[in-house]
Amino acid sequence: MEINKFMKSLANSREACLRPLLWFLLLAFSSSEAHAQWYKYSDTAMTTPVELEFWFSDQSAADAVAEEVLAVFHQVDRNMSRYREDSELSGLNRHGADNPVKVSPGLFRVLKKAREVSELSGGAFDVSFGSVGYLYDYRAHQQPSEEDIRSRLGHIHYQDVVLNEDTHTVFYRQKGLLVDLGGIAKGYAVDLGIERLVRAGVRHARLSAGGDLRLLGDKRGTPWIVGVRDPRSEDRSAVVLPLENVAISTSGDYERFFINDQGERVHHILSPGTGKSVRGVQSVTIIGDNALTTDGLSTAVFVLGPEKGLEMIERLPGIDAIIIDDKRVMHFSEGLAPPES
Ligand code: ADP
Ligand code: MG
Repeated sequence: MEINKFMKSLANSREACLRPLLWFLLLAFSSSEAHAQWYKYSDTAMTTPVELEFWFSDQSAADAVAEEVLAVFHQVDRNMSRYREDSELSGLNRHGADNPVKVSPGLFRVLKKAREVSELSGGAFDVSFGSVGYLYDYRAHQQPSEEDIRSRLGHIHYQDVVLNEDTHTVFYRQKGLLVDLGGIAKGYAVDLGIERLVRAGVRHARLSAGGDLRLLGDKRGTPWIVGVRDPRSEDRSAVVLPLENVAISTSGDYERFFINDQGERVHHILSPGTGKSVRGVQSVTIIGDNALTTDGLSTAVFVLGPEKGLEMIERLPGIDAIIIDDKRVMHFSEGLAPPES
């Protein structure tokens, strides 16, 4: 509107020589607006579906932006996957206890945030859980024996992952310690993807990788509607939230699991204290302003459980949580709870 008014007032001016240029600009403006629409893309990376939707001016430019954003997830996977022998993380796991290893700024950033979440959660979040976590194979329905767990439990100790800010090096203070970034790297990739979108001039977008989602702006005049999945039903939402400009991450016991011979649910979120799947919670959803933080915190609160988890969340400004416990009772942080009557 403002631009149209501006164009008209200029067009009415006596400087007739400017008119052709003005009409050209007006046409260019209205035609790019006419083609602007929502563009949607999907991919699989980091062993999870990646979905991208954004408002943009035209198809070929949107395709180029999307390609760049989706490439981010493959790049982060190449650096931080523990399933790839040749990833930077696997190299660190092989040599981290020999000498301090210089790592890329991205890996250092994620390890630093992981440490921060470990300290906040009193060690409930601990990327060195991988020392035991590597013994689980959810697809093959394999879990370690009590003895295997006992022999490796001592390697879960985030304090032994020493980060040197000046040299960007990482040193493992004990041999046998293995880091797994599955609880935090997707959030980092989502943030990087959003950075790329912002750089390309995008103002309305939704980008998700599995349980980690970030929204840029609103849905052009209305909020985005985000469903928090019912942990025991794939196509039912437990809560639906209107949101904009936030990150939201969910950790659930349904993402990677199997039921063992004893009828127990063996799932991918492990207690660093026992080396076994955490009980008492079905899912945790965290809302905050960046996905690196919400991803780490969703796993941390899952391990802490409703009471201690909410205690931690209430200490963190700008962060909210929804916890669904094993009785399917929902717990909300103060920022989301309805006012008391
Ligand atoms: P997803 O989106 O894959 O469900 P989550 O954020 O729920 O991811 O994190 C689950 C992943 O976190 C596990 O697959 C594992 O890689 C990692 N993880 C499990 N237990 C812990 C823990 N106690 N501390 C840190 N990371 C963990
Ligand atoms: Mg997480």
